[in-house]
Amino acid sequence: MSAPPVAPVKSAPLVDGFSRVHDDLRLSITDRCNLRCTYCLEEGVRFRPRDELLTLDELLRIAAVARSLGVRSVRVTGGEPLVRSDVVEVIAGLAELGFEDLSLTTNGTRLAALAAPLAAAGLQRVNVSCDSLREDRFGEVRRRGRLAQVLSAMEAAEAAGLSPLKVNVVLMRGVNDDEVLDFAEFAREHRRVVRFIEFMPLDAGGAWRRDRVVPSAEVLERIGARWPLEPAGREGDPAPADRFRFTDGGGEIGVIATVTQPFCGTCNRLRVTADGAVRNCLFSDEERSLRSLLRSGATDEQLAEVLRGAVADKRAGHGIDTPAFLRPRRSMSMIGG
Ligand code: SAM
Repeated sequence: MSAPPVAPVKSAPLVDGFSRVHDDLRLSITDRCNLRCTYCLEEGVRFRPRDELLTLDELLRIAAVARSLGVRSVRVTGGEPLVRSDVVEVIAGLAELGFEDLSLTTNGTRLAALAAPLAAAGLQRVNVSCDSLREDRFGEVRRRGRLAQVLSAMEAAEAAGLSPLKVNVVLMRGVNDDEVLDFAEFAREHRRVVRFIEFMPLDAGGAWRRDRVVPSAEVLERIGARWPLEPAGREGDPAPADRFRFTDGGGEIGVIATVTQPFCGTCNRLRVTADGAVRNCLFSDEERSLRSLLRSGATDEQLAEVLRGAVADKRAGHGIDTPAFLRPRRSMSMIGG
């Protein structure tokens, strides 16, 4: 692997107009996915031509520039990052850049075989998406893949030392919201951090409706009535999940209340899509292309300028509840969730 150019960027941290320091990068390494989860992708989805996706060197160069601008944590995502054939090299290259936190979000279908090589390459943690603990429903929601495969991948990840293991559950009213307590029990039994994510208007099929969102407050109430909970999040912690621990010492869960209780005020995230566009918010269509700059011989300082510009233009909030809100043109898997 050729080393990315060291970024001789002299810079202050990435701070926006609302004093939010951006030190967390979501790096999408592919728009491809081997599942078609109903809340995310459509059957018949058309992926970007391969030559539009960032190469290994381009990904690492962007990450190096971001690192030089004070970015401390990187989460690799997609699409499904584990369908990219050089994902281990991507992780190894990111690890060499010295990020404090290096994690990856996956649907788990290819994780069993890749957990050990990824951990050896420097990956620290994984989030595994799993929206049902019932095999038949798992198939209905995800349209491909098997629950048993994903559950054994979680074990392989833990055996490889990828911890704490977090499990992402997108809750949808009338689809899987009757499994809240089952997932809480699963979290307790396996000591995995189950995170209940509110369904966001980012599905390719346009099926999102407000009444399909299960508010996080309701999730906490239902679990708390069975096993009392107490807040576990640190003050000022910019992580999107509000963390709660079971008061009997039975572990921890999290809720991501993007729709009903937006946490934009502490947002510290910057996103780069698999085709090299910088986005300052999941819900904003404003994108700046790094790919064209990379392919036309830009300097690291020019790349840094694009990242700074994206942060500078960030709005105060995503505005889902405002009348002017428009669904983003790109769906979650095309942006990188
Ligand atoms: N393929 C990987 C996976 O399945 O985890 C990573 C990419 S996926 C787009 C990242 C996360 O976004 C997953 O946890 C997924 O459940 C979540 N997600 C996708 N569409 C969503 C939506 N409409 N609302 C809320 N979360 C969504």
